[in-house]
Amino acid sequence: MTEIFTGSFTQQEPIPQKGIDAALRVLNHGRLHRYNTAPDEVAETTLLEVDFARAMDAKYCLAVASGGYAMATALRALGVKPGDKVLSNAFTLAPVPGAIANVGAVPVFVEVTEDLTIDLDDLAAKADQAQVLLLSHMRGHICDMDRLMGICNNAGVKVVEDCAHTMGAKWGDTWSGRFGVFGCYSCQTYKHVNSGEGGFLISDDPDLMARAIVMSGSYMMYGRHEAAPPFEAFQDVRYQMPNMSGRMDNLRAAILRPQIEILMQQADRWNDRYSVLEDGLQNTPGLTVIRRPPQEKYVASSFQFLLLDWAANDIREVITRCLNRGVELKWFGPDEPVGFTSKYDSWRYANPAPMPKTDRILNSVMDMRLPLTFSLDDCALIARIIRAEISAVWQSH
Ligand SMILES: *Cc1c(COP(=O)(O)O)cnc(C)c1O
Repeated sequence: MTEIFTGSFTQQEPIPQKGIDAALRVLNHGRLHRYNTAPDEVAETTLLEVDFARAMDAKYCLAVASGGYAMATALRALGVKPGDKVLSNAFTLAPVPGAIANVGAVPVFVEVTEDLTIDLDDLAAKADQAQVLLLSHMRGHICDMDRLMGICNNAGVKVVEDCAHTMGAKWGDTWSGRFGVFGCYSCQTYKHVNSGEGGFLISDDPDLMARAIVMSGSYMMYGRHEAAPPFEAFQDVRYQMPNMSGRMDNLRAAILRPQIEILMQQADRWNDRYSVLEDGLQNTPGLTVIRRPPQEKYVASSFQFLLLDWAANDIREVITRCLNRGVELKWFGPDEPVGFTSKYDSWRYANPAPMPKTDRILNSVMDMRLPLTFSLDDCALIARIIRAEISAVWQSH
């Protein structure tokens, strides 16, 4: 009997009941705007910022409208100007170079390794070309952060972390998002917490955070923030920074607070699913499992493996065979962008130079989401299907 998987790779869990109840309270009182509060009321958005700052051991947190907005705001706060260059990963998703383009700057792409992390040798070689690195922890893979920070500190490069796939992850004992001057997060449906849209910025730098808060559209109400720098930090900044509205609202914040509370439980559940897949695919001829160093405490909301140096047609055959059995593998190899997967050479506004190492990886990497609606048995079944179909194609050659 041929086993077929019938689950949906895009179906997340429902919002926790506590979040639904809190959302209904906000809807009932009608004060959705973060600065619309009753006397003595602290807005859900402000409370969310306090919760997330505490969860990440950060001094300051700002909740915003999206992850992309968070990244562009971080770059602006750092003074990145039109025409400036910003280092970033060649292997990432479109909102990352998009945030660089948003401030009129130009991405300088850095190659990716077989571990799916930024190539630190290539970074060291290019570090003199820019003053800022927008580091994407793409698909939750974290590079050697000690070495990366060494390279960047030596070269005077400021680091902004894109933690869209690493909310709740650590390198060593430090949270992802706490190495750079800013950590940026997305609360979009496919990330680790789900409010449809939304994002966070965290930082310990009072001046940078004051800039971000004023830019986010705080008018002169920055005093109503609690996970914010002291008043003095705003004295000049409030005259200097433009209002570029991108606020979070109380409805989303209400939905998110109970999710931040259970973030690490969810992380364990994701990682249980990841291990089942990883175990099921170990030692499959032709397939490379991604190396995960012991310092990396990941939150595996997705799963990747490599079919290194396979012919494109064989990869297409694997994808079709898996799809026929209900397993959707995403591939970064095709020339034309599909769905959420575009790659650096599709971002033509950035005029990217050819990147041979990255091309080899993009042509090899298979990617799938791991929603928590999948059971461990589902993951074992998915692994059996992938293993069988890869073996079939591998043996026919
Ligand atoms: C989703 C995502 C973002 C940005 O998130 P939005 O909230 O959709 O703007 C940034 N980086 C990566 C790698 C992402 O996947």
